[in-house]
Amino acid sequence: MINLNNPETAFALDAVRRAALLVKHIQAEMVTSALTKDDRSPVTVADFAAQALVGHLLEEKFPGVSLVGEESSAVLQIPEERDTLLTITRFLGEIFPQATPEKVCAWIDRGAGEAEDRYWTVDPIDGTKGFLRGAQYAVALALVVDGQPQIGVLGCPNLTGGYRENVEGEGSLLIAATGEGSWLTALEGGPQNEFTRVKVSPQDDPAQARLLRSFESGHTNTGQVDRFNQAMGGEAPPVRMDSQAKYAVLASGQGEIYLRLLSPGREDYREKVWDQAAGSLIVEAAGGRVTDLAGNPLDFSVGRRLLKNRGVCATNGHLHEAALQALRTVKAV
Ligand code: AMP
Ligand code: MG
Repeated sequence: MINLNNPETAFALDAVRRAALLVKHIQAEMVTSALTKDDRSPVTVADFAAQALVGHLLEEKFPGVSLVGEESSAVLQIPEERDTLLTITRFLGEIFPQATPEKVCAWIDRGAGEAEDRYWTVDPIDGTKGFLRGAQYAVALALVVDGQPQIGVLGCPNLTGGYRENVEGEGSLLIAATGEGSWLTALEGGPQNEFTRVKVSPQDDPAQARLLRSFESGHTNTGQVDRFNQAMGGEAPPVRMDSQAKYAVLASGQGEIYLRLLSPGREDYREKVWDQAAGSLIVEAAGGRVTDLAGNPLDFSVGRRLLKNRGVCATNGHLHEAALQALRTVKAV
């Protein structure tokens, strides 16, 4: 069972739940049919608001600990963005009456930390394109110690039961801690903090592997994904999904392989820590394996990006060696 008597685990679960509900609330309030003039604004407001919330909650609970967050308030401090900052402050004021634009910027910039021996990392909205399309997105928070994620939480408002795409459902909250397994609870509704264990799929036939890839073609190499699928003998087309929701699906046993290939012309791309820390731990603690495309463990100790790794290969474990072999066959490494 997940040990919620551990104050860091309890904090992570609470912070992600509150951030995911805030993001969902902002989406409901701002993404109306009337809003067409600037469809980037709801994602901007929700992104910054969620990071501010997590930054503030972390500072209250664990002052001084490093937080590596995706966003920085610099872009909000220019006069043209004043209205955006005021909108973010209004949403945070519904939770923290003391919120002011200056405080909100400071809460966001709590995320300017370094990847120290011990740090938290947050992606306030992973999958912004999915958020805008009304598809999958996730709030991701992890504690990393000595380069290894120790606690990871994913909040997926548009996934039910950890894997089913459902924008009107209760949402999913997945949590893992090293040595304690991966667990699922509903984001809202239902009995809160009633957990069920999630486990990866037992499938060991490469031809039966369900493959997950980015929805956005620009985030992967679509030709290489298809050649990989052929090399595995797979017949079903890959499932396209935004964000770390793919890690949730894999951990829940409803997919076998999730690849992050390097997109053509972006072979220098290195993954960001907040995009991988929580999801990779949730898959590993559910019995899966996560490495880079060459089979090396992900090293979260080297900065804001995984500079020592190229791409990601996440599997249910049983199919990991076959996947690494197929990656060599299609020259993805
Ligand atoms: P996904 O929804 O799985 O495509 O992942 C979304 C994440 O992909 C974003 O949070 C970005 O940080 C990251 N990303 C952006 N550009 C690229 C790229 N060229 N290759 C891989 N990942 C990218
Ligand atoms: Mg992201």
